Amino acid sequence: MALTLIAVIFFATSSRISADRIEALEKSVAASSNVASIVAANLGEVFGRTTIYTRLSTTFLEQAHDEQPAVNPLALGDAAFLRMAIFDADGKLAYSSSRRGIEPELQLFARTVLFADTPPSLVIGGMGGTVARDPQTGWRIPVAAPLISGQRRIGAFAGYIDLGYLLALYKEVSLGTSSRIEIIDSRGIQLAEMADGTVSAGRDLKRTGYASFIGSTGLSGTVDGTRPGDSGASIGVFRKLDHFPLVVTVTRDRTAVLDELKPRNIQYLIRAALISLLILLASAGLIVLAQRQRGLNAGLTDSEARNRTLINQLEAEKVRAFQLASLDFLTDIPNRMKFYELAAIELSRARRSRRLTAVFFLDLDKFKVINDTYGHGVGDLLLQQVATRLRLSLRGHDLAARLGGDEFAVLVSDLDNDEAVAIVARKLVASLSLPYLDLDGHDLDVTPSIGVALYPGDGEEIDTLLSRADRAMYLAKQSGRGCFRFYEASLNATSARSAELVSRFARAMRDGEFCLHYQQRVACADFRPVGLEALVRWQHPEHGMIFPGEFIELAEQHDCIVALGNHVIDMACAQVANWQMLGLVVLPVAINISARQLRDETLPDIMTACLKKYAIPATLIEIEVTESCFIEQPELAEKVLRALDELGMRISLDDYGTGFSGLSHLKRLPISTVKIDRSFIRDIRNDNSDAVIVSSTISLSHNLGLKVVAEGVETRDQVVHLKTAGCDELQGYYFHRPAPASEITALLRHPAAYAA
Ligand code: C2E
Ligand code: CA
Ligand code: CA
Repeated sequence: MALTLIAVIFFATSSRISADRIEALEKSVAASSNVASIVAANLGEVFGRTTIYTRLSTTFLEQAHDEQPAVNPLALGDAAFLRMAIFDADGKLAYSSSRRGIEPELQLFARTVLFADTPPSLVIGGMGGTVARDPQTGWRIPVAAPLISGQRRIGAFAGYIDLGYLLALYKEVSLGTSSRIEIIDSRGIQLAEMADGTVSAGRDLKRTGYASFIGSTGLSGTVDGTRPGDSGASIGVFRKLDHFPLVVTVTRDRTAVLDELKPRNIQYLIRAALISLLILLASAGLIVLAQRQRGLNAGLTDSEARNRTLINQLEAEKVRAFQLASLDFLTDIPNRMKFYELAAIELSRARRSRRLTAVFFLDLDKFKVINDTYGHGVGDLLLQQVATRLRLSLRGHDLAARLGGDEFAVLVSDLDNDEAVAIVARKLVASLSLPYLDLDGHDLDVTPSIGVALYPGDGEEIDTLLSRADRAMYLAKQSGRGCFRFYEASLNATSARSAELVSRFARAMRDGEFCLHYQQRVACADFRPVGLEALVRWQHPEHGMIFPGEFIELAEQHDCIVALGNHVIDMACAQVANWQMLGLVVLPVAINISARQLRDETLPDIMTACLKKYAIPATLIEIEVTESCFIEQPELAEKVLRALDELGMRISLDDYGTGFSGLSHLKRLPISTVKIDRSFIRDIRNDNSDAVIVSSTISLSHNLGLKVVAEGVETRDQVVHLKTAGCDELQGYYFHRPAPASEITALLRHPAAYAA
């Protein structure tokens, strides 16, 4: 960049210099041209004067020499002429201005015009070569002219013209050094030259490039060439005289012209050099700066890279430390701490799901004996194998952890039912009971004992679930090891028991093994009971009381639900009639209707028949349906529901929020109440999104003219919150647990005593 700039500067300088040279040469030529014009005019005028002298001389001869003196330059005051002489027709001297008796040189010259056949009117010396050219005096040019009287040649006039004198007049005209004025004749012989104040003559310029104008037709023009004997070229102009065969040149040495420019050129060059130097210095400075900056940058990048490496190292160490803290050092699966953390996340996810989450507590049977017999090394290898097998028998998102010693925990979510849980448990037992081969050379047979706790049935916190699974594990140990046990003892033979329950449904209904418990619903405003919900229980002769969670689904699966449902309707109506008979103010009783029942077109008739049978008004019976009732054959379900509504029953939408439909979608259904599912109520104080769902459900329901009931209200905080949110009615353990009819009877007798 800098170099380009310098190149440009020097290019500009050199073009400036050459432009200046051209200009200087042109100026010099122009000045020469002026001087040449003046000299040529002057010279023409001097030569022109010979005409006057010729005429005077003719008169002198005609008047037979009596007049004195005819032509005398001194007398005439003509400094350009040196001497003059007049010769008669025979060539004899008739008059001489020098008053000498003889004028041999002029006489010789006069004869050239006297005896020539057709003489020109003026002959200029040096042309004929008859006069010797003396370089010192050679600028004295002889001229001769014939004297004519009538038709006769009566004599000749001759004289010397002092061209040196003439040129000396221009001494003062400054053309600069090495300038010269020349007078050249038509053959290229230099008649006179004045250079640097000195007059000389005699150079032969014939046939030189310098005098090429001699042969040309141009009257004036430039001269540019080297004179013979000169070392350098001259430049200037020539000018030919109009009436005489003479040329004036005014020239200067080309080098002299150009030399005058030298100081200026040197100035230019110095200036260019200085600017270049400045540019170079600036560039150098910039380069140094840039290098320093680069150095700084490199340093910065360097330290940044070092920092990043350090940060990465720290990060890696942190991750490692965290993994160390959260992974079991021996088996590389999560430790107790990590299990709690992950399980809590999993449970909060499971809250929304209707599916089961199971916590398995595993303990190896007789592990202590193995440790004591084979040593800790083998014990450790065994634990590692157990961890590997656990991992292999579980799905990717299931959670396995070592709690410590020979205790492991497993959390499996998204299970359909108890049977699915049992399948997982059985699989774990089977996988962990396979022989452990070549543990440091020992083959071992070990079995696990597994305890199972279910979320949410057995607990909702991971602590609770784990401690209940632990307790169930002891049951498994007591039952002979190498097996699993549910925390809720009733589940321990699930599949067998399910089969038994299914086969017993019909008989159980007949034998009156089903009964209803009733849970009160209270008004949010004053907590006074406003209704009851009938919840079915199975009073099993062998298993004791079984809750609907275990058998409703079974009944649905085995087509017993319609019969069971009708049985419940009958029992509820009978109970209402019973309370009526006792003269109590009866609260309306809500009956849960499952999807299958709602697709039974006879349901409204059955209901009507039942009301009639027990002589109770339809307003004392309410219906609870869930959104899932409208998935299959929704038109039919809707039709049945409408018929029930027409009977005059209040209809509630149960478990609201766990389903799929928005409220507005259900607008067309004859629903008067929405029951918000208890999973939303549980965390309403802590979980912001739950709180938002609840309050927006309440306000939206109110907009649609629906009443809102909150289910599963367990704490005072929840009550306060729901009250503030504008909920209409509340139901939950905080107020009343489901209770047998006898307890409700007592309540109806003394409502005040039971008010919350
Ligand atoms: P559901 O209709 O949501 O009934 C409310 C359930 O919540 C009852 O459980 C009740 O005991 C329980 N509950 C009430 N307050 C609280 C509370 O504060 N905290 C907690 N954690 N739970 C509370 P239950 O009696 O075990 O009934 C379970 C489900 O079985 C019922 O849920 C209902 O869907 C079904 N069900 C019960 N009886 C019948 C019936 O006669 N027919 C049909 N088809 N289903 C029934
Ligand atoms: Ca219900
Ligand atoms: Ca419910």
